[in-house]
Amino acid sequence: MKKYLIIGAGLSGLRIGQLLALDGNKVDIFEMEDEVGGLMKTREKEGFLFDIGPHIFFKDYAEEYKKLISNDLHNIRVLYGVGFSNKDIISPIRPVNLLKNLGIRKSLPLVADVMLHKMSKSNENAETLNNAEDWVISNFGKKVYECFFKDYIPKVMGLQASKVTEDWGTERHKFYKEHNLSQKSSKFLLNFIFNKENKGGYLDVYYPENGAQQVPVAICEEIKKLGGKIHLKTKVDRIEIADSKVTGIVIQKEGGIEEKINTGNDTVVINTMPITNLFSSIMTPDANSDAIKGISSNLKYRNLWLFNFILKRDKLKNKAQIYFPEKKYIFKRVYEPNNLLNDPVRNGKTAICVEVCYNEGDEVESMGEEALYSRVMEGLKDFYSISDEDVLDMWSMRVPYSYSIYNLGYKEVLLKMVEYLFEIDSLISFGRQGSFKYNHMTNRVMDSCNSLQKFLKSGSAKKNFLTSPDCKSDFF
Ligand SMILES: Cc1cc2nc3c(=O)[nH]c(=O)nc-3n(C[C@H](O)[C@H](O)[C@H](O)COP(=O)(O)OP(=O)(O)OC[C@H]3O[C@@H](n4cnc5c(N)ncnc54)[C@H](O)[C@@H]3O)c2cc1C
Repeated sequence: MKKYLIIGAGLSGLRIGQLLALDGNKVDIFEMEDEVGGLMKTREKEGFLFDIGPHIFFKDYAEEYKKLISNDLHNIRVLYGVGFSNKDIISPIRPVNLLKNLGIRKSLPLVADVMLHKMSKSNENAETLNNAEDWVISNFGKKVYECFFKDYIPKVMGLQASKVTEDWGTERHKFYKEHNLSQKSSKFLLNFIFNKENKGGYLDVYYPENGAQQVPVAICEEIKKLGGKIHLKTKVDRIEIADSKVTGIVIQKEGGIEEKINTGNDTVVINTMPITNLFSSIMTPDANSDAIKGISSNLKYRNLWLFNFILKRDKLKNKAQIYFPEKKYIFKRVYEPNNLLNDPVRNGKTAICVEVCYNEGDEVESMGEEALYSRVMEGLKDFYSISDEDVLDMWSMRVPYSYSIYNLGYKEVLLKMVEYLFEIDSLISFGRQGSFKYNHMTNRVMDSCNSLQKFLKSGSAKKNFLTSPDCKSDFF
């Protein structure tokens, strides 16, 4: 029987723990917080379920989720939107929706620019894309970039689009392709006239009766039934490595009590905490380690400041989430849970979750909560005509390590870190933050788990497995 020490009880850590426990292994999961779920937490207030921003389940693993929470998993259809020029336009944006919402005078120059761009592009050879600005312009033309991305990318990444790698765009595009939302240029004109594709922009998705956290809680129960252990309020503080092997981990329990767990040849440590924190927790006499730790500090994550509201208003919009590309709004996205599960408790009231990104010590954080709330309200008044009297309740929460920042040069840094990890037997890092990637719950995370399990079963050399193209896609 092999032993697995898993760091983090988010979806990645729990899912791999479940698979390994099912396979008859000894599993211990260490979670520094007092509950499981990581980014998939849910808070209930007055009948409304607040996740950390929207947490919508895509269909790829619906059957797996059903096994866990059966009839509690609801199949729903949702719309996404883009808030632009005081209109909520169905996303991904189609020319016909632009025309409907913005009128001919405003939308025609934009639509004409996209069409000219698409037609001229069909004859061009593939070009080199150096950054996210290049990527957007190459795919959609300059006007789309200026209206929808120029100020949006800095909101999310904290950097100008020219300082962000093109991965930011390719990953989103991949998402839309996977969910049949991307538009083939050959169908562009037909769509322009009929807008037939994608059932009017509706996404066919799933959502649990009790919110996103219901899934990690159910996985946790299954792991326990299989004999696995989940240690809450237990932070993994240090990982000791000698001769390219993990020799022990030091955990910190409630009240700062430390305990060392020695690891033998039969133990594998699986990390899902942010990869930067993993590197700072490594203790080794290895001469290389200081240099690599220094390099790893170049990777940064972006934080989220969420403002959750209960409002004395009927449903505000028919979109589950609306993206805000314009600079005048300090927030990047607003999520309205009423569009997922409609029940009578919500009559006459609605809830929204407003997302603002920040870095430690930046302009947004320095504003402080009160000033930031005023800026959020300014935007909500402008777009949704919400008044101060409409606000029945509001609370804010901060979510560190929400997004990996894809600054130019990050890949080179990450590759060096991954290469360093290749050399350490019995230490694997994956998950959204553990692989420094924009993983969404279903596809990436579950795929990673399955690939990882295959690797662990096969016992093949870690280096060969991890450098295979299949696995590389988990990193980039
Ligand atoms: C705002 C937002 C909206 C999203 N919306 C969607 C969506 O609609 N659909 C979708 O599919 N995906 C969505 N996602 C992505 C989804 O949340 C993630 O893919 C998934 O939850 C990642 O799980 P994880 O286990 O890899 O990471 P996490 O959930 O971050 O888990 C890591 C865990 O490790 C713990 N930890 C960290 N350090 C230590 C330590 N030293 N010792 C012990 N424990 C530690 C943390 O407390 C945490 O519980 C969204 C993400 C965000 C930020």
